Order: sequence, then structure tokens, then C-alpha cells
Amino acid sequence: MPQEVLKVSTQTIEKMKAHYGKQIEAGTPPGAVFRAKTYNAAITAYQSGKVLFQGKAPELEARKWGTVSASSGTAKKSSTAGGKFPKQVSGTVPEGFLLASHIGSDEAGTGDYFGPITVACAFVEADKIEQLRAIGVQDSKNLTDDTIRKLAKDIVKLGIPYALLVLHNDKYNKLQRKGWSQGKMKAMLHHHAIEKLLSKTKGTDSAGILIDQFCMPDVYKRHLASEKATIPEKTYFMTKAESHSIAVAAASIIARTSFVREMDKLSAEVGFTLPKGASAKVDAAIADVIRTHGHEKLESIAKVHFANTKKAEKYL
Ligand code: MG
Repeated sequence: MPQEVLKVSTQTIEKMKAHYGKQIEAGTPPGAVFRAKTYNAAITAYQSGKVLFQGKAPELEARKWGTVSASSGTAKKSSTAGGKFPKQVSGTVPEGFLLASHIGSDEAGTGDYFGPITVACAFVEADKIEQLRAIGVQDSKNLTDDTIRKLAKDIVKLGIPYALLVLHNDKYNKLQRKGWSQGKMKAMLHHHAIEKLLSKTKGTDSAGILIDQFCMPDVYKRHLASEKATIPEKTYFMTKAESHSIAVAAASIIARTSFVREMDKLSAEVGFTLPKGASAKVDAAIADVIRTHGHEKLESIAKVHFANTKKAEKYL
């Protein structure tokens, strides 16, 4: 059975007890403070400060409370000497971070030929986390566009502070020709959105910033440095962060809603529905755009350096 072990402080064990509340089971094994059971894992906290997470996805539960080592968890360990870390290190946050007030940041539209890149970040205070979870805020990849739109409205209604940036296609294409990688564009968008939100939420207690990781943190910092920007303190990165952090999930919903809205606008402009993604369906749609509006139209509605531009030629 997959398992994770954390070493935490007595205060954290007390917080855990309060957090798991009704999920705590009667009867504790010898030496244990409590035993609880969630959908992801069975959790046993010991007087020594050791906490054992066992079950389907123990790392999801363990991450709420501390740093999960990159080489443990459900991933198969390599048997090579030196025990190399898996290529995709998941990233870590400090103990208790995911249940504390924090900023989460995520983007949409990066893999879509048509439409802009949208980046959003949201500041969720600790006392709003459960409320957001209760209204259904979660990884936007699991949700339909209609649900996402509705949730975005609810998030705004709850007064969650956020910042949203849209990199429209003409600007995107200009930057791309100037030699900017998509990674650099994303890094600068996240950075500017976070700066904007930090100035809005100045003075509010926060555990820091969590960015849904799209590149190695060093690369992110290098992109910022190339534009003379520096990363705010207490910034962390995690892959699949939207399934661990409600703030990142909220950000992903806001970013996706904006992307869908922009796609609707562009579809109205060309007179037919532009497909999302970058499949062969997109290639055919490119040919339609060229036939009806001319090749130059792509500049303002598409990421023209994608291979799709070339592939569309066979439809013309
Ligand atoms: Mg993401």
C-alpha cells in the first residue's frame, strides 16, 4: 500500500485533529494521538510527532501538512545507485501552507492554437477555503465550461481578491518573433498578475504564493531576471497544484473562464465557432479563416508559430 510519513510539531498534530474532526475514528493504536480516515488515506498521528498516511493517495493528504519527499509516494523508486529523483519533482510547500491564507496562480490557453493566454491568481484566506470547496471549486480540468463559468461568478461574489491578465494574440505573436519562448511569456504574466494582486492585498496575513508549476523554478527565475524582475519572497511551485490548493483551483477557474469568454468573442468576429486545442479540427478551421478573412487575420486570433498554421495548407 502506498504510504507517506511526515514528522510534524505537536501544534500541527493539534491542528490536524481539529481539521479531521468527524473523520477521526474511535480507538487509537498504541502510542498514537488519533487515527482518521479520508477518501485519500488513513492517517495515524503518533505522540512522537510521526504521522503515517496510508491508502489510495497518501501524498495528497500528507502535502496539506508538510513536505513530501520527491522520491517517495506512489512513484516507483529507481533502483540505481545514488537514488536519482524522478524527472518531474512535484515541488513542495511549507508545513500547513495549503490550509493557510495564500495566493494561487494558474493559466489557460497555452496549448490552444486559437485564442490568448490568460493568467489569473487568487488570494484565498484560510477561513474561505472550506466555503470554496463546498461550492465545488476544484481543478478546472475536471469541470465543464458551463460549471467553470458559474463557479467563477460565485468566486467573484464571495469577494475573493484576484488579478487576471490576458495576452492577446497580436502581442503574443510579436513577443514570439522577438525571441520570447512561451515559457517566458507565462513566467512574466504570472509575475505581473501576482504583483498586481500583492498590491491589492497588502497588509493581509499570507503564507505566500503557490504557482502551478509549468517549468523548473530556476528557469522561472531566469525568465524574470532577463526582464529585471525578481520573484517575491515565499513563492513556491508545485505540479498539479490546482488539485492541492483551493487558491490555485480558484485561479484556474478564473483563467479558464476568461479564456472561454475570449474564444467566444473571437468566434463571433470570424462568424463561426473556433475550436479549442490544437487538433486536426483546428487545422481545418484555420483554412476556413484564411478563405473567409485572409491569412493576416490569424495574427490577431491565433498563436501563429504553432505547427497547425503549416498543417492547414493541405485544406486550402
Ligand atoms: Mg496550470
